[in-house]
Amino acid sequence: MPEKDLPHNHSKHESSKDDDFEVVIGLEVHAELATKTKLFSDSANHFGDEPNTNIDPVCLGLPGSLPVLNKRAVELSIRVGIALGSTISPCTFARKNYFYPDMPKNFQTSQYDQPLNVGGSLTLASGKKIGITRAHLEEDTGKITHIGGGGRIHDAKYCLIDYNRAGVPLLEIVSEPEISSGEEAREYVKELRAILVAVEASDGKMEEGSLRVDTNISVRKKGEVELGVRTEIKNVNSLRSLLRAVEFETKRHISAIQAGEELRQETRHFNEDTGETHPLRSKEDDMDYRYFPEPDLVPLDPDEKWVEEIREQMPALPTEKRVRLKEASGADDSVIALLVSRGVDDLVDATIQAGADAAQTIKLAEQNLSDGAGKLEADAFLKVVNMLQAGELSATQVKAVLTEVIENGVDPKQVAESMGFEAMDEGELEGLVEQVISQNPDEWERYKGGDQKLVGFFVGQMMKLTQGKADGKVVTAMLSKKAAN
Ligand code: ADP
Ligand code: MG
Repeated sequence: MPEKDLPHNHSKHESSKDDDFEVVIGLEVHAELATKTKLFSDSANHFGDEPNTNIDPVCLGLPGSLPVLNKRAVELSIRVGIALGSTISPCTFARKNYFYPDMPKNFQTSQYDQPLNVGGSLTLASGKKIGITRAHLEEDTGKITHIGGGGRIHDAKYCLIDYNRAGVPLLEIVSEPEISSGEEAREYVKELRAILVAVEASDGKMEEGSLRVDTNISVRKKGEVELGVRTEIKNVNSLRSLLRAVEFETKRHISAIQAGEELRQETRHFNEDTGETHPLRSKEDDMDYRYFPEPDLVPLDPDEKWVEEIREQMPALPTEKRVRLKEASGADDSVIALLVSRGVDDLVDATIQAGADAAQTIKLAEQNLSDGAGKLEADAFLKVVNMLQAGELSATQVKAVLTEVIENGVDPKQVAESMGFEAMDEGELEGLVEQVISQNPDEWERYKGGDQKLVGFFVGQMMKLTQGKADGKVVTAMLSKKAAN
């Protein structure tokens, strides 16, 4: 990776307003691959085990041990490459040399000038395409925990090292500097995560470190073509942090430029507590790592037939699912985008494929799944939709049932029963409607006189009387029938 982006000095922009600038972002996403074993050895790749139990001579860098490439890791990487439209290329491994206790070999086996996946793009929900530079395979490092001094390295008394993660396969997916806002960066990571999960390459769990994002940011005057000096922000562990980090760093760059200060190309650390970034180290360049070809591994040249096989067995991609959902439901793009952003598009699709009424399913999802689907699954959702269609549940009751199923994953029929929700008998309902009318004669006269606002009043009274069991639609129909008589 030759440095294409040597820093250039900004002239003083003291008179410029914040609005005169635009932010340019390029992301490096590290995804831990969902293999059973490590990239070059047969220890388990498994999160959360007792420290230093998934280790072996290769990942500990013991003398004489030799790496053997994990075929499944290559296959999963190729799936991601296919999903992103990359060219699956003959490639080699390289040693990236540095000394750090989380890397017992004192080098990381990675890919350098010949990565596996070259080029490609990722399309955001908005339709904007973000170029992919490359996606290469490398091994993860061990995990260091600093003890004492608030967990910071400088004040720590000692540190603990867990090598369970050392040698876990990583795919580093590098974007072109084409992302134009924090929100867009978030959309990019969300979509990339959806793809990784869909092709079963990674579980995509940011909270377990399966997905880690390094954020490269620069700022330039609108209309300028040349890129500004970039900083790289580490430790961005959630989508919320990504937004905050971009926001803070953008302001910092703009203020520096306005003040005529020179920005340095450096690596910075994002502090979750303060929302600020702090310098970590000046940006090392490739020369510092003394990359050289890994002598213990042969070049990797994926067989065309094998790549074709992988292509044929690819699970459906998020975009394909969205198109399918649109075809099945006829819903607007904005509705589909909403369901996607809530991460419930898969569930809605599966529910419709299982036979649920599409319009009703989408409507329920829009109204009730704003915080995601929780423990609600397609077969349960199908039951809820059907109960509503059959008039066994009112709209209010559906809400209560769904809330319970989302939280506890219980059977909706049982929930409805245990909540005492039975469809109200029409005759019983009719009697209650008459009761409400006779108790509110003035309102009834005004309603009959054409004041439609009073529908809400009567439905409300009915809900109170039946503790939400009445079906609002049926009540409304009864009211208008009675008014017409
Ligand atoms: P390194 O390993 O040195 O960080 P990479 O090539 O792995 O280099 O990644 C560089 C990342 O930084 C890419 O995502 C690229 O799009 C982004 N980038 C490069 N220059 C700039 C810039 N001036 N502003 C914003 N992002 C940039
Ligand atoms: Mg990098």
